[in-house]
Amino acid sequence: MSSSQHFSDWLVNAEQAARSGGDFVVAILERILQEASACDASDVHFQPGKYAVEIRFRLDGVLHKIGELPSEHAAQTAARLKVLANLLTYKTASPQEGRVRSNRVPNVLKEMRISTAPTLYGERVVVRFFSEENRFHYPDELGFSDDLLQNLLRTIRKNAGAILVTGPAGSGKTTTAYALLRELADRSETLRSIVTLEDPIEHALDRVAQIETPHQGELTLRDMIKYMMRQDPEVLFVGEIRDRETAEASLQAALTGHLLITTFHAGSAADAVGRLCEIGIEPFVLRSGVSCVLCQRLVRRLCECAETPKSREPLTLEIDREKFTLSAYRLPKGCPKCGGTGYRGRALIAESLPLNDDEVMRGVLDRRETSTLRNLAKQGGMIPISARAVSLMESGVTSPHEIRRVFGGN
Ligand SMILES: [Zn+2]
Repeated sequence: MSSSQHFSDWLVNAEQAARSGGDFVVAILERILQEASACDASDVHFQPGKYAVEIRFRLDGVLHKIGELPSEHAAQTAARLKVLANLLTYKTASPQEGRVRSNRVPNVLKEMRISTAPTLYGERVVVRFFSEENRFHYPDELGFSDDLLQNLLRTIRKNAGAILVTGPAGSGKTTTAYALLRELADRSETLRSIVTLEDPIEHALDRVAQIETPHQGELTLRDMIKYMMRQDPEVLFVGEIRDRETAEASLQAALTGHLLITTFHAGSAADAVGRLCEIGIEPFVLRSGVSCVLCQRLVRRLCECAETPKSREPLTLEIDREKFTLSAYRLPKGCPKCGGTGYRGRALIAESLPLNDDEVMRGVLDRRETSTLRNLAKQGGMIPISARAVSLMESGVTSPHEIRRVFGGN
């Protein structure tokens, strides 16, 4: 990837292109999008400020400033991006959304989604890349530990019950859900009827009936779930549970002989159960309807340039309000290969609530606090995500800095 010191080279090249009859903004945008695509950025931000438009790339989940364009080019930059997505260039006072087809920008083979919004200093444009193929197809390619993987594969073979894939924003929940659906669609011994309700549909899946949740009209997600029940589904994927109505309708499906896969925003597996109770789901519904509560995070992997700290003192850090002392760890450094960030790629860590454990189930039914549930789960054999994080640091896969960033501890 190219770091900010290369941005000045991109500018020089664009100026040269302009002198030989081209257009500066067209040339620099082409370069920015090509570089972003080449280094696998997920998003590019064109953030207008008082004096300049800041260009940022999101790499492995983290935003990096790449460079600045003088604000004299701000309006034309936004206009050019809108042209690429067939949006109305004169419409600058309200948000717009559009898609840019693969290869519309030379050498950018990924499809892009562009969204604009009016801000104090002009239009802010965010470009999101769609990889034409999700890189991780099946659950065994996601990086789950073997115990969690086997548990997931066992659970999706069942004919009923819910699999809740939980975690904070950006923790890869959708990728996991898609991988489970692909496993069911492509690798089941018998043909299964799979229906999804998504907002939006992120990837097309073979042998799966994917339905985008309607935004207009009277139909709610809950209504849609009810309609889908008449479509003779065996497996139902509900993109995300956000409220009581959706949770109830989805879990009802899981209780009546359908395998349900859904995602839910939560900080830990125990927290997910607590939050479902909070929004009004009865504990006995969770007991009978839920087969698996997975919670996951993505952490950046250290690049091979990482170094071992000179000081041999053990490091203490807190994850999920629990203190750990590291016997060994490595620190990010930065090299041309990782664009100076010190990281390349991401690793997945996860935990799964042992719902077959009597004590854990009693804790759920008694509406015990999240911290109590977590302790019961650990006694019941759950390897908490914090312990998985510690082993990733000790084996040098990721750094204490990254774990602090992801878990927000001290
Ligand atoms: Zn490096």
